[in-house]
Amino acid sequence: MKGIYPGSFDPIHNGHLDLIHRASKLFDHLTVAVYSEPEKNILFTAEERVKLIENSINSSIKNVDIVVFSGLAVEFAKNLQAEFILRGLRAGFDFELEFEMALMWKKLQPEIDVVCLMSSLEYQFVYSSRIKEVSRLGGNVTDLVPSNVIDALKVKFD
Ligand code: ADP
Repeated sequence: MKGIYPGSFDPIHNGHLDLIHRASKLFDHLTVAVYSEPEKNILFTAEERVKLIENSINSSIKNVDIVVFSGLAVEFAKNLQAEFILRGLRAGFDFELEFEMALMWKKLQPEIDVVCLMSSLEYQFVYSSRIKEVSRLGGNVTDLVPSNVIDALKVKFD
């Protein structure tokens, strides 16, 4: 079974990493798909986001790769012959968004299914957007992102 995990990952944080590590046990192969041009304000280039993910995934995990994609996630999944799209659910409004998107993806590519994993308790409130805002204002996000991301945020905001 093959899955893709699409997202902006701007930047990767511990909530994303927790999901990747858990999903690597669920799928034979997982591709972390970095969306090249999200509509939201982006801090890191696609290449920087890929590097940050590469350097933060536990090296003992061998069945995960990272690629940049553009266009529809379902088309990208189909081209990779992946059967599943992985998404994460934090408490609250993620469900409505993910549910609506999963139905649209199902309409576009009925053979691809969406698998959602619940966020672990300690990462329920972790959002890339909040991490960027707190870092920009000089706050400490040490427990929320891997150390290479801390360094990269310092370079952007110092
Ligand atoms: P964010 O919402 O943090 O800006 P992305 O757009 O990169 O992140 O999200 C990609 C996927 O990861 C989405 O399915 C999102 O719900 C999920 N995700 C984001 N943060 C978490 C978290 N803390 N725990 C579990 N899943 C998460």
